[in-house]
Amino acid sequence: MIRHTKSTNVPSSLGRGVQANEDNCTAYDAAAAGYRNGERSFDIRKGIYGTDVVKRQLKADQYDKCAFCESIFDANVAGDVEHYRPKGAVDTDDRRIYPGYYWLGYNWENLCYACPDCNSYRKRNCFPLENEANRARDHHADITLEQPLLLDAYGPRDPRAHIAFRGEAVTGLTAAGNATIDILALGRTALARDRLQHLRMLTLVHESVSLFDGDPRPEAIAFLQRARAELAAAILPDARFSAAAADHLAALDAGENFLPVSAA
Ligand SMILES: [Zn+2]
Repeated sequence: MIRHTKSTNVPSSLGRGVQANEDNCTAYDAAAAGYRNGERSFDIRKGIYGTDVVKRQLKADQYDKCAFCESIFDANVAGDVEHYRPKGAVDTDDRRIYPGYYWLGYNWENLCYACPDCNSYRKRNCFPLENEANRARDHHADITLEQPLLLDAYGPRDPRAHIAFRGEAVTGLTAAGNATIDILALGRTALARDRLQHLRMLTLVHESVSLFDGDPRPEAIAFLQRARAELAAAILPDARFSAAAADHLAALDAGENFLPVSAA
């Protein structure tokens, strides 16, 4: 997971969400108890927040990668526009809290693009806080008082300061890092296998650079140039698994290889 910069160009379709959101806030104020006990719920319309224009902008801002796992997955399955703060309800360990962050349902700052595995199967309505007492329960509350445990690819905290990789294995550096790994299952088998395959190839490129370094042959010099460019590209924000690649290549530079022995 890395930090992305969200376009300041708010997608046009979200403009229709301004009035829809005002209507929702008015409806809440008229019947707050019903919304808080789950008898009433808001229809946060995907036709406003999840349009192609919103998805296209988020994909551009995230280089087509999942905001959470850094996979480039849409050759196999379509990703969705997702809410960082859940729009309909919040699930905690022991209860479901209604009505969720309805007032952020059409909020550009609250949206990201994620793979189904991270969002639909893992994150869902999870949004734990360091202190549950600070949770914003309606549009009158101040969300800046919350200290979310889940990291946000577009938030003020750099995920790289909270989550690190040792080979393909992911590890938390802080409580937020650990919670994020846990909620999203960032160590899940299929994902770790994809990272491992990617890091194995980078290891080979890294080894070949060491092997040909100092070789005066023109073809070796040209090869080195290409190989170094590949390694440099692997840690750029548009590269898949760039955080894992950066940590792995730094370890290799330091003479350490944390991949399973068979990988080398
Ligand atoms: Zn993902």
